[in-house]
Amino acid sequence: MTPIGYLNIDADGKIAGKFYDHEKQTSLITLGRSLRRVEKDPLIAPLIRSFFDWYLVEPRTLKQSAQYMNHLGIKSPRFKGKYSISMIERILKNPFYSGQMRYEHELFSGVHDPIITSREFSDIQSYLSGKSHPMLVKHDFVYRGLIQCAECGCSIVGVRKKKLSGKEYEYYTCSKRRGTCGQKPLKPAEIDIQVHEKLQAVYIDERVWELCKKLIKLHFASQLEKQGSHVEQWGRDLSLLDKKLANLLDAHLSETVTKEDYIAKKNELLNEKAHIEQKIKDGGSSTRHWLLDAETFFDKAHHAFTRFADPDVDISEKKQILRSIGWNLRLFDGNLEWHYKKPFDILATQILDLQPVGTNAFVNYNKKTSSFAESPLLIESWRDAWVQCQICRGVSRAF
Ligand SMILES: [Zn+2]
Repeated sequence: MTPIGYLNIDADGKIAGKFYDHEKQTSLITLGRSLRRVEKDPLIAPLIRSFFDWYLVEPRTLKQSAQYMNHLGIKSPRFKGKYSISMIERILKNPFYSGQMRYEHELFSGVHDPIITSREFSDIQSYLSGKSHPMLVKHDFVYRGLIQCAECGCSIVGVRKKKLSGKEYEYYTCSKRRGTCGQKPLKPAEIDIQVHEKLQAVYIDERVWELCKKLIKLHFASQLEKQGSHVEQWGRDLSLLDKKLANLLDAHLSETVTKEDYIAKKNELLNEKAHIEQKIKDGGSSTRHWLLDAETFFDKAHHAFTRFADPDVDISEKKQILRSIGWNLRLFDGNLEWHYKKPFDILATQILDLQPVGTNAFVNYNKKTSSFAESPLLIESWRDAWVQCQICRGVSRAF
C-alpha cells in the first residue's frame, strides 16, 4: 500500500478500492495524461509537503511533529484519525516521499512523483539520527542546496575564504563536480538582489493582505452554508435509498423479482449509498483544508519579502521561504532563473485585480509601489461593492 499522500490507481485509471473519492478523481483527470499506478493525492499531498516544509525549518521533536500533522487536519487511517509518534517517524523515514522505493534494504527509483527532493530526504535522515541539525550549522549559506548551475546541472555551493589581511569573504560557485564548467563565481549580494526582486513580485501589502483574509473568510462561510444544504440533500437521498432497499426486500420476499435482479439492484443501491456517505464524510474536511491553504498562501505572500530581507531572520527560515515560493532555481551567466510555485505564479504574473462585479476596474494596483491608486469616491463604491477575488474566484461583499 502507498503511504499517506499517495493514491493507488487501478488498471482502469480509477482510484483503487475504498480510497475512491469523486473530487480527487476529477482533479486527477485535469492532469491531462493517463494516470500511473501511483499518483500524488491532489488534496493530501500538498498538506504532506507543508508538513515537510515545517519540519525542515528547525529542530522538531516527533511529538511536536505528530501534533503539527494532526493540526493540519490530515486524517490517519488508524487511532481515531490521529497520528502517533511512531507513525510520524515512519513517514519521515520513508524514502517513497523522495521518489524512491525500498526493496529488501535496497533503494530503487520509483515511477511516482516525489513530494520532497532526495536532498531534503537525506537532510531529514541526518536530523533524525542526530548527526546534524539545520540550527546547529553555524556558518551556513542561504542558497546552499537550493540553486543549480544551468550549464552543467551541478549544485551551486557557498565558499568562505580568508584574505592575507585576515578578512573573510564569501562567494557562490558551481561545484563543477561533473568536470569543466564555464560559469564564473558570484558575490552573495548579486544573488540577493535577484531573489529580492522575485520575492517582491509576489508581495502583497498590509491592506490587500487584510482584505484578502476577510474575503476568504466570507467565502469560507458561504462554502460552509452551501455544504450544509448539500448535507441536508444527501441525508434525504439516503433515507430514500433506505426506502428503496426495504421495498426491494419486500419484492424479493413476495417473489415478484428474480433472485438475480434482486442482487443486482441491491448492489447498485448499496453502492450509491456508500458514495453518498463518503461525500458527507469528505465534504467538511476539504472545505477546511481549502481555508487553511488560502490563509497560509496570503500570509506567505505578505511576509516573505520582508522576512527574507531581514538580517535578523535565521537562515533556515529564509531557505524555507525560498522553498515554498520558488522551484527549479538555476544560475546562468550570473542570472537567476526561477519558477514560481503555484499559486504564487498568479501573484507574480498578474496584477492583483480586485474588481466590483459588473463594473469597470476601479482600483489600479501598482506593483512597483505595492499600492492602490484610488479616489475617495471610489472608496465609497468599494465599500458597497460585491467584489470578485481574482485569486480564489470567490465573490464576496467587501466589509
Ligand atoms: Zn556548472
